Amino acid sequence: MALFLPEFDLQRLNTLAIPARAQFYVAVTSSEEVLEALSFAAERQLPVLPLGGGSNIVLAGDYPGLVMHIKLHGIELVDEDETSVWVRAAAGENWHKFVQHCLVMGCYGLENLSLIPGSVGAAPIQNIGAYGVEVKDRVTELSAIDIRSGLPVTFTAESCNFAYRDSVFKHSAQDRYIITSVTFKLDRAANLVLEYPSLRQRLQLAAPKNSDIADVTPITPEQVAAAVIAVRQEKLPNPVDTPNAGSFFKNPIVDAAQFARLRKRFADIIAYPQADGTVKLAAGWLIDRAGWRGYRDGDVVVHAEQALVITNPGRGAGANVLALADKITQSVQERYGVRLELEPRVYPEMGSV
Ligand SMILES: Cc1cc2nc3c(=O)[nH]c(=O)nc-3n(C[C@H](O)[C@H](O)[C@H](O)COP(=O)(O)OP(=O)(O)OC[C@H]3O[C@@H](n4cnc5c(N)ncnc54)[C@H](O)[C@@H]3O)c2cc1C
Repeated sequence: MALFLPEFDLQRLNTLAIPARAQFYVAVTSSEEVLEALSFAAERQLPVLPLGGGSNIVLAGDYPGLVMHIKLHGIELVDEDETSVWVRAAAGENWHKFVQHCLVMGCYGLENLSLIPGSVGAAPIQNIGAYGVEVKDRVTELSAIDIRSGLPVTFTAESCNFAYRDSVFKHSAQDRYIITSVTFKLDRAANLVLEYPSLRQRLQLAAPKNSDIADVTPITPEQVAAAVIAVRQEKLPNPVDTPNAGSFFKNPIVDAAQFARLRKRFADIIAYPQADGTVKLAAGWLIDRAGWRGYRDGDVVVHAEQALVITNPGRGAGANVLALADKITQSVQERYGVRLELEPRVYPEMGSV
Protein backbone atom coordinates (compact mmCIF):
# COMPACT_ATOMS: atom_id res chain seq x y z
CA MET A 1 0.00 0.00 0.00
CA ALA A 2 1.24 3.48 -0.85
CA LEU A 3 2.15 5.78 2.04
CA PHE A 4 1.02 9.40 1.73
CA LEU A 5 3.15 11.87 3.66
CA PRO A 6 1.91 15.43 4.30
CA GLU A 7 4.10 18.58 4.25
CA PHE A 8 7.03 16.70 2.73
CA ASP A 9 10.43 18.40 2.37
CA LEU A 10 11.58 18.34 -1.29
CA GLN A 11 15.03 19.90 -0.86
CA ARG A 12 16.89 16.58 -1.26
CA LEU A 13 14.67 15.60 -4.20
CA ASN A 14 15.57 18.46 -6.56
CA THR A 15 19.12 18.93 -7.88
CA LEU A 16 18.95 22.72 -7.36
CA ALA A 17 18.50 21.90 -3.62
CA ILE A 18 15.72 24.44 -3.37
CA PRO A 19 13.91 24.30 -0.03
CA ALA A 20 10.22 23.67 -0.71
CA ARG A 21 7.49 21.35 0.52
CA ALA A 22 4.87 19.14 -1.11
CA GLN A 23 1.38 19.25 0.36
CA PHE A 24 1.51 15.44 0.01
CA TYR A 25 4.26 13.08 -1.15
CA VAL A 26 4.06 9.45 -2.18
CA ALA A 27 6.67 7.06 -3.62
CA VAL A 28 5.11 4.61 -6.09
CA THR A 29 6.73 1.26 -6.93
CA SER A 30 4.01 -0.39 -9.07
CA SER A 31 1.20 0.49 -11.49
CA GLU A 32 -1.25 -0.42 -8.69
CA GLU A 33 0.34 2.20 -6.43
CA VAL A 34 0.20 4.76 -9.26
CA LEU A 35 -3.57 4.12 -9.50
CA GLU A 36 -3.96 4.32 -5.73
CA ALA A 37 -2.10 7.65 -5.71
CA LEU A 38 -4.25 8.99 -8.55
CA SER A 39 -7.41 8.10 -6.59
CA PHE A 40 -5.98 9.83 -3.49
CA ALA A 41 -5.34 12.99 -5.54
CA ALA A 42 -8.71 12.86 -7.33
CA GLU A 43 -10.63 12.50 -4.06
CA ARG A 44 -8.95 15.65 -2.74
CA GLN A 45 -8.90 17.45 -6.11
CA LEU A 46 -5.14 17.82 -5.93
CA PRO A 47 -2.87 18.36 -8.93
CA VAL A 48 -0.23 15.66 -9.42
CA LEU A 49 3.48 16.24 -10.04
CA PRO A 50 5.26 13.09 -11.26
CA LEU A 51 8.83 13.35 -9.97
CA GLY A 52 11.89 11.50 -11.23
CA GLY A 53 15.37 12.67 -10.26
CA GLY A 54 14.27 16.29 -9.85
CA SER A 55 17.05 17.44 -12.21
CA ASN A 56 14.89 19.47 -14.58
CA ILE A 57 12.55 21.38 -12.27
CA VAL A 58 12.65 24.68 -10.42
CA LEU A 59 10.51 24.84 -7.29
CA ALA A 60 9.28 28.43 -7.18
CA GLY A 61 7.40 27.69 -3.96
CA ASP A 62 5.70 24.88 -2.04
CA TYR A 63 3.78 22.46 -4.26
CA PRO A 64 0.05 22.58 -3.50
CA GLY A 65 -0.73 19.01 -4.51
CA LEU A 66 0.59 15.44 -4.60
CA VAL A 67 4.21 14.82 -5.58
CA MET A 68 4.32 11.28 -6.97
CA HIS A 69 7.90 10.01 -6.83
CA ILE A 70 8.26 7.47 -9.63
CA LYS A 71 10.11 4.42 -8.28
CA LEU A 72 9.03 1.83 -10.86
CA HIS A 73 11.96 -0.48 -11.61
CA GLY A 74 12.92 -3.17 -14.10
CA ILE A 75 14.74 -3.56 -17.42
CA GLU A 76 13.80 -6.27 -19.90
CA LEU A 77 14.75 -7.37 -23.37
CA VAL A 78 11.46 -7.47 -25.28
CA ASP A 79 12.53 -8.39 -28.80
CA GLU A 80 15.55 -8.85 -31.01
CA ASP A 81 16.61 -9.58 -34.55
CA GLU A 82 19.97 -9.88 -36.27
CA THR A 83 20.84 -6.20 -36.00
CA SER A 84 18.63 -4.73 -33.28
CA VAL A 85 17.52 -5.26 -29.72
CA TRP A 86 14.36 -3.78 -28.16
CA VAL A 87 14.81 -2.97 -24.49
CA ARG A 88 12.06 -1.77 -22.14
CA ALA A 89 12.97 0.13 -18.99
CA ALA A 90 10.65 1.15 -16.19
CA ALA A 91 10.27 4.90 -15.66
CA GLY A 92 11.97 4.97 -12.27
CA GLU A 93 15.26 3.49 -13.50
CA ASN A 94 18.18 5.90 -13.21
CA TRP A 95 19.03 7.09 -16.73
CA HIS A 96 22.82 6.82 -16.52
CA LYS A 97 22.69 3.37 -14.88
CA PHE A 98 20.35 2.25 -17.66
CA VAL A 99 22.79 3.49 -20.33
CA GLN A 100 25.62 1.62 -18.60
CA HIS A 101 23.48 -1.50 -18.33
CA CYS A 102 22.78 -1.37 -22.09
CA LEU A 103 26.51 -1.11 -22.81
CA VAL A 104 27.22 -4.15 -20.65
CA MET A 105 24.48 -6.07 -22.52
CA GLY A 106 26.13 -5.09 -25.85
CA CYS A 107 23.17 -2.87 -26.84
CA TYR A 108 24.43 0.33 -28.43
CA GLY A 109 23.12 3.76 -29.38
CA LEU A 110 22.71 5.56 -26.06
CA GLU A 111 26.41 6.01 -25.23
CA ASN A 112 26.46 9.74 -26.10
CA LEU A 113 23.71 10.27 -23.51
CA SER A 114 25.87 8.96 -20.66
CA LEU A 115 25.81 10.77 -17.31
CA ILE A 116 22.66 12.80 -17.97
CA PRO A 117 21.03 12.94 -14.53
CA GLY A 118 17.47 11.84 -13.92
CA SER A 119 15.16 8.96 -14.69
CA VAL A 120 14.19 6.93 -17.76
CA GLY A 121 10.58 8.15 -17.52
CA ALA A 122 11.55 11.81 -17.79
CA ALA A 123 13.89 11.31 -20.76
CA PRO A 124 11.16 11.54 -23.44
CA ILE A 125 9.48 14.56 -21.81
CA GLN A 126 12.08 17.01 -23.09
CA ASN A 127 13.68 14.56 -25.57
CA ILE A 128 17.01 14.63 -23.76
CA GLY A 129 20.02 15.12 -25.96
CA ALA A 130 23.79 15.48 -25.85
CA TYR A 131 26.78 15.20 -28.18
CA GLY A 132 24.75 14.86 -31.37
CA VAL A 133 22.24 12.25 -30.13
CA GLU A 134 18.68 12.72 -28.89
CA VAL A 135 16.64 10.09 -27.10
CA LYS A 136 14.02 10.32 -29.89
CA ASP A 137 16.53 8.54 -32.16
CA ARG A 138 16.06 5.40 -30.03
CA VAL A 139 12.58 5.51 -28.45
CA THR A 140 10.08 3.25 -30.22
CA GLU A 141 7.17 3.54 -27.80
CA LEU A 142 6.28 4.32 -24.22
CA SER A 143 3.62 3.24 -21.77
CA ALA A 144 1.75 5.68 -19.60
CA ILE A 145 -1.26 5.95 -17.30
CA ASP A 146 -3.82 8.66 -17.98
CA ILE A 147 -4.01 10.82 -14.85
CA ARG A 148 -7.71 11.60 -15.39
CA SER A 149 -9.04 8.14 -16.24
CA GLY A 150 -6.41 5.84 -14.75
CA LEU A 151 -6.36 3.94 -18.05
CA PRO A 152 -3.15 2.62 -19.63
CA VAL A 153 -2.07 4.33 -22.88
CA THR A 154 0.67 3.54 -25.39
CA PHE A 155 2.46 6.29 -27.30
CA THR A 156 4.38 5.44 -30.45
CA ALA A 157 7.52 7.49 -31.12
CA GLU A 158 5.54 9.33 -33.80
CA SER A 159 2.74 10.30 -31.44
CA CYS A 160 5.32 11.74 -29.00
CA ASN A 161 5.96 14.58 -31.52
CA PHE A 162 9.59 14.79 -30.55
CA ALA A 163 11.55 17.95 -31.40
CA TYR A 164 14.53 19.79 -29.93
CA ARG A 165 14.06 19.56 -26.09
CA ASP A 166 10.39 19.11 -26.79
CA SER A 167 7.60 16.54 -27.08
CA VAL A 168 3.83 16.24 -26.88
CA PHE A 169 4.30 15.99 -23.08
CA LYS A 170 5.15 19.70 -23.01
CA HIS A 171 2.05 20.62 -25.02
CA SER A 172 -1.32 18.88 -25.45
CA ALA A 173 -0.30 15.97 -23.19
CA GLN A 174 1.28 18.14 -20.48
CA ASP A 175 0.26 17.05 -16.96
CA ARG A 176 -2.00 14.33 -18.40
CA TYR A 177 0.10 11.17 -18.09
CA ILE A 178 2.35 9.23 -15.76
CA ILE A 179 4.95 7.57 -17.96
CA THR A 180 5.53 4.05 -16.62
CA SER A 181 8.05 2.58 -19.09
CA VAL A 182 9.95 3.42 -22.26
CA THR A 183 11.04 1.02 -25.03
CA PHE A 184 14.24 1.64 -27.00
CA LYS A 185 15.52 0.12 -30.22
CA LEU A 186 19.26 -0.37 -29.85
CA ASP A 187 21.96 -1.73 -32.14
CA ARG A 188 23.97 -4.92 -31.78
CA ALA A 189 26.85 -3.29 -33.69
CA ALA A 190 28.36 0.11 -32.96
CA ASN A 191 27.04 3.02 -35.04
CA LEU A 192 28.96 5.82 -33.42
CA VAL A 193 28.02 9.49 -33.55
CA LEU A 194 31.30 11.37 -33.23
CA GLU A 195 30.58 14.73 -34.79
CA TYR A 196 30.96 16.84 -31.64
CA PRO A 197 34.36 18.59 -31.55
CA SER A 198 34.85 18.20 -27.78
CA LEU A 199 34.10 14.49 -28.04
CA ARG A 200 36.43 13.98 -31.01
CA GLN A 201 39.12 15.93 -29.26
CA ARG A 202 38.81 13.85 -26.12
CA LEU A 203 39.04 10.59 -28.07
CA GLN A 204 42.06 11.77 -30.04
CA LEU A 205 43.86 12.95 -26.92
CA ALA A 206 43.45 9.48 -25.53
CA ALA A 207 45.21 8.00 -28.57
CA PRO A 208 48.85 7.00 -28.35
CA LYS A 209 51.22 9.66 -29.77
CA ASN A 210 48.32 12.00 -30.39
CA SER A 211 47.56 10.29 -33.72
CA ASP A 212 44.03 9.84 -35.03
CA ILE A 213 42.66 7.11 -32.80
CA ALA A 214 40.26 5.97 -35.50
CA ASP A 215 43.23 5.02 -37.68
CA VAL A 216 44.93 3.08 -34.90
CA THR A 217 42.18 1.14 -33.13
CA PRO A 218 38.46 1.06 -33.83
CA ILE A 219 36.66 3.16 -31.24
CA THR A 220 34.16 1.25 -29.14
CA PRO A 221 30.85 2.54 -27.71
CA GLU A 222 32.38 2.01 -24.26
CA GLN A 223 35.20 4.41 -25.16
CA VAL A 224 32.67 6.94 -26.43
CA ALA A 225 30.74 6.66 -23.16
CA ALA A 226 33.96 7.14 -21.18
CA ALA A 227 34.86 10.20 -23.28
CA VAL A 228 31.38 11.70 -22.83
CA ILE A 229 31.60 11.13 -19.08
CA ALA A 230 35.05 12.76 -18.92
CA VAL A 231 33.99 15.81 -20.97
CA ARG A 232 30.83 16.26 -18.90
CA GLN A 233 32.70 15.94 -15.61
CA GLU A 234 35.11 18.62 -16.77
CA LYS A 235 32.46 21.07 -17.97
CA LEU A 236 29.43 20.59 -15.76
CA PRO A 237 29.14 21.00 -12.00
CA ASN A 238 28.10 17.87 -10.11
CA PRO A 239 24.72 18.67 -8.48
CA VAL A 240 25.80 16.70 -5.39
CA ASP A 241 28.42 19.38 -4.57
CA THR A 242 27.06 22.36 -6.49
CA PRO A 243 23.28 22.33 -6.84
CA ASN A 244 22.13 22.98 -10.44
CA ALA A 245 19.66 21.83 -13.07
CA GLY A 246 22.04 21.56 -16.04
CA SER A 247 21.40 23.92 -18.94
CA PHE A 248 19.04 26.57 -17.66
CA PHE A 249 18.04 27.85 -21.12
CA LYS A 250 17.28 26.17 -24.43
CA ASN A 251 19.44 27.06 -27.42
CA PRO A 252 17.31 29.63 -29.27
CA ILE A 253 16.45 29.11 -32.92
CA VAL A 254 16.40 32.12 -35.25
CA ASP A 255 15.66 32.56 -38.95
CA ALA A 256 18.41 32.97 -41.55
CA ALA A 257 17.88 36.75 -41.88
CA GLN A 258 18.20 37.38 -38.15
CA PHE A 259 21.28 35.15 -38.03
CA ALA A 260 22.91 37.12 -40.88
CA ARG A 261 22.32 40.36 -38.96
CA LEU A 262 23.74 38.87 -35.77
CA ARG A 263 26.82 37.51 -37.53
CA LYS A 264 27.59 40.96 -38.93
CA ARG A 265 27.73 42.31 -35.38
CA PHE A 266 29.24 39.25 -33.68
CA ALA A 267 31.59 37.52 -36.11
CA ASP A 268 32.45 34.63 -33.75
CA ILE A 269 28.86 33.81 -32.74
CA ILE A 270 28.41 30.05 -32.27
CA ALA A 271 25.61 28.67 -34.42
CA TYR A 272 24.32 25.37 -35.79
CA PRO A 273 22.47 25.57 -39.14
CA GLN A 274 19.31 23.42 -39.14
CA ALA A 275 17.92 21.35 -42.01
CA ASP A 276 14.90 23.69 -42.39
CA GLY A 277 17.08 26.79 -42.97
CA THR A 278 16.78 28.14 -39.43
CA VAL A 279 19.85 28.50 -37.21
CA LYS A 280 20.27 27.26 -33.63
CA LEU A 281 22.37 29.62 -31.50
CA ALA A 282 24.45 28.52 -28.52
CA ALA A 283 22.63 30.08 -25.55
CA GLY A 284 25.78 29.61 -23.44
CA TRP A 285 27.79 31.78 -25.85
CA LEU A 286 25.14 34.54 -25.87
CA ILE A 287 25.06 34.62 -22.05
CA ASP A 288 28.82 34.38 -21.70
CA ARG A 289 29.46 37.26 -24.13
CA ALA A 290 26.84 39.35 -22.38
CA GLY A 291 29.17 39.16 -19.38
CA TRP A 292 27.27 36.82 -17.05
CA ARG A 293 29.78 33.99 -16.59
CA GLY A 294 30.76 33.74 -12.91
CA TYR A 295 28.19 36.38 -11.84
CA ARG A 296 26.93 35.94 -8.27
CA ASP A 297 23.57 37.18 -7.06
CA GLY A 298 23.27 36.21 -3.37
CA ASP A 299 22.83 32.43 -3.15
CA VAL A 300 22.84 31.97 -6.91
CA VAL A 301 25.80 31.90 -9.33
CA VAL A 302 26.23 31.67 -13.10
CA HIS A 303 28.68 28.76 -13.40
CA ALA A 304 32.23 29.98 -14.08
CA GLU A 305 33.05 27.18 -16.60
CA GLN A 306 29.72 27.20 -18.46
CA ALA A 307 27.45 30.25 -18.52
CA LEU A 308 24.42 28.15 -19.51
CA VAL A 309 24.30 26.64 -16.03
CA ILE A 310 22.86 28.50 -13.04
CA THR A 311 24.02 27.06 -9.72
CA ASN A 312 22.49 27.44 -6.27
CA PRO A 313 25.43 26.93 -3.87
CA GLY A 314 23.60 28.86 -1.14
CA ARG A 315 20.66 26.40 -1.47
CA GLY A 316 18.37 29.42 -1.56
CA ALA A 317 14.78 29.84 -2.69
CA GLY A 318 13.59 29.15 -6.24
CA ALA A 319 12.53 32.79 -6.53
CA ASN A 320 16.22 33.83 -6.35
CA VAL A 321 17.17 31.39 -9.11
CA LEU A 322 14.32 32.64 -11.30
CA ALA A 323 15.15 36.30 -10.58
CA LEU A 324 18.69 35.80 -11.90
CA ALA A 325 17.35 33.86 -14.90
CA ASP A 326 15.06 36.80 -15.59
CA LYS A 327 17.92 39.31 -15.53
CA ILE A 328 19.91 37.13 -17.94
CA THR A 329 16.92 36.76 -20.27
CA GLN A 330 16.39 40.53 -20.36
CA SER A 331 20.05 41.29 -20.99
CA VAL A 332 20.26 38.74 -23.84
CA GLN A 333 17.09 40.18 -25.36
CA GLU A 334 18.49 43.72 -25.23
CA ARG A 335 21.92 42.79 -26.58
CA TYR A 336 20.99 40.36 -29.36
CA GLY A 337 17.21 40.71 -29.80
CA VAL A 338 16.92 36.98 -29.00
CA ARG A 339 14.39 35.60 -26.52
CA LEU A 340 15.73 32.85 -24.24
CA GLU A 341 13.39 30.13 -22.98
CA LEU A 342 13.86 28.23 -19.73
CA GLU A 343 14.73 24.56 -20.12
CA PRO A 344 13.58 23.29 -16.70
CA ARG A 345 9.91 23.29 -15.74
CA VAL A 346 8.85 25.71 -13.00
CA TYR A 347 6.48 24.47 -10.22
CA PRO A 348 4.03 25.70 -9.15
CA GLU A 349 3.25 27.30 -12.53
CA MET A 350 3.94 31.07 -12.64
CA GLY A 351 0.83 32.91 -11.58
CA SER A 352 -0.32 30.13 -9.26
CA VAL A 353 2.49 30.77 -6.72
C1 LIG B 1 24.16 18.48 -14.29
C2 LIG B 1 23.00 18.29 -15.25
C3 LIG B 1 23.25 18.02 -16.58
C4 LIG B 1 22.20 17.84 -17.49
N1 LIG B 1 22.50 17.56 -18.78
C5 LIG B 1 21.52 17.39 -19.69
C6 LIG B 1 21.82 17.09 -21.06
O1 LIG B 1 22.97 16.96 -21.44
N2 LIG B 1 20.78 16.96 -21.91
C7 LIG B 1 19.48 17.06 -21.52
O2 LIG B 1 18.60 16.92 -22.36
N3 LIG B 1 19.17 17.33 -20.23
C8 LIG B 1 20.14 17.49 -19.31
N4 LIG B 1 19.83 17.77 -18.00
C9 LIG B 1 18.43 17.90 -17.60
C10 LIG B 1 17.82 16.60 -16.96
O3 LIG B 1 18.83 15.75 -16.55
C11 LIG B 1 16.90 15.87 -17.93
O4 LIG B 1 15.87 16.71 -18.37
C12 LIG B 1 16.28 14.62 -17.29
O5 LIG B 1 15.57 13.89 -18.25
C13 LIG B 1 15.34 14.96 -16.13
O6 LIG B 1 15.03 13.76 -15.49
P1 LIG B 1 14.43 13.74 -14.03
O7 LIG B 1 14.02 12.33 -13.74
O8 LIG B 1 15.36 14.36 -13.08
O9 LIG B 1 13.14 14.64 -14.23
P2 LIG B 1 12.42 15.56 -13.14
O10 LIG B 1 13.23 16.80 -12.94
O11 LIG B 1 12.05 14.77 -11.96
O12 LIG B 1 11.11 15.96 -13.96
C14 LIG B 1 11.19 16.75 -15.12
C15 LIG B 1 9.81 16.85 -15.74
O13 LIG B 1 9.39 15.56 -16.19
C16 LIG B 1 8.19 15.15 -15.52
N5 LIG B 1 8.31 13.71 -15.24
C17 LIG B 1 9.34 13.08 -14.64
N6 LIG B 1 9.12 11.74 -14.62
C18 LIG B 1 7.90 11.56 -15.20
C19 LIG B 1 7.10 10.39 -15.47
N7 LIG B 1 7.50 9.16 -15.16
N8 LIG B 1 5.90 10.57 -16.06
C20 LIG B 1 5.45 11.82 -16.41
N9 LIG B 1 6.18 12.94 -16.19
C21 LIG B 1 7.38 12.80 -15.60
C22 LIG B 1 8.14 15.98 -14.24
O14 LIG B 1 6.81 16.11 -13.78
C23 LIG B 1 8.74 17.29 -14.73
O15 LIG B 1 7.78 18.04 -15.44
C24 LIG B 1 20.86 17.96 -17.05
C25 LIG B 1 20.61 18.23 -15.70
C26 LIG B 1 21.66 18.38 -14.80
C27 LIG B 1 21.38 18.65 -13.34
